Amino acid sequence: MGSITRSVGAGGANRPADVTEIQQLLNKVPAVQGGASPPFVVFGTCDSATLAAILKFQKKQVPAFADGRIDPGGPTLAKLNALAGAPSPGPGPGPSAATGSLTDVNRARGIGQIWLAAVEPAITGFIFSVGKGLSNAQAPSLAFIEDAFHKHFKLILDPSKKDAAHPNTKVFDPVTDKTFLPFIRSTFRGVQGVVMNPGKFDLITAAKATADKASGIAAYVLKTGGNIQVSPAFNSPARGPNCQAAIVVHEAVHVVDGASGNDAAHIPEWATNDPPISGKVAPGPDAKFGKTGYDLQTPEQAMHNAAAYASFAAHVARGKDERFGDGRQTE
Ligand SMILES: [Zn+2]
Repeated sequence: MGSITRSVGAGGANRPADVTEIQQLLNKVPAVQGGASPPFVVFGTCDSATLAAILKFQKKQVPAFADGRIDPGGPTLAKLNALAGAPSPGPGPGPSAATGSLTDVNRARGIGQIWLAAVEPAITGFIFSVGKGLSNAQAPSLAFIEDAFHKHFKLILDPSKKDAAHPNTKVFDPVTDKTFLPFIRSTFRGVQGVVMNPGKFDLITAAKATADKASGIAAYVLKTGGNIQVSPAFNSPARGPNCQAAIVVHEAVHVVDGASGNDAAHIPEWATNDPPISGKVAPGPDAKFGKTGYDLQTPEQAMHNAAAYASFAAHVARGKDERFGDGRQTE
């Protein structure tokens, strides 16, 4: 707190110690709030620059008392003390300007591309093996690719594969199917193009994510064909590398498939009784799906489910059903 013994400024006593005090206070107040700009040399003499600075400050902060003079205990001195002691509104604590991390996005794109690179050979091999009538011994990867189609796209090879946990599976022939497989393959190709392209990712602040969608959302796409918006919630260590890769693949589906946002299709990979994520996350009270919603999808819904694409790609690339994503955030 600065204090003065006698008045300073126009018509004031202007004792050197008091003038020095006022000059120092005016230098501490940010220019946008009426402080000295540029800061003047403190020398204890009330010159024309000091008089002008006092008047400028008063006009900004206490216009009713803008007479060019500062009195002990008066409103100008009170305001000067308040603003000179306040934290600077410039750099320093305040709303965070942090964004999604470019390093994390690039790592996730790399892992996502490895997963996606396994998809087309898996599908081609699946069609070939089924078409040739190969046994599991002759085509060792057949069983797990079949399992991946069963779990994520709800497509099975014959009625004997139907199980109670996935009641809406449909029998399909991958050699002759014209409904599901061509759409799924072309969606995967589009997703691959998005994930490969660094220009499809925007690094944004938490404030923008909250304004656009919801607080704490890691990534989202505002409209089909748009860019993937990546917020600080995406970053390590809150999200692990496999979770981030699943997010990137998931959001890339939203970029290429306009039907992927509808509620019946858009069911997370953790809304399931399938291991290993069963029970880790429960849908909130306002969720539009049940705990087993992922299990209950039809292939017509699953072929538009962004979570199914991310889970299928990781499944065929890694050889097992793991379902990285929001149910396994730190992995
Ligand atoms: Zn989504």
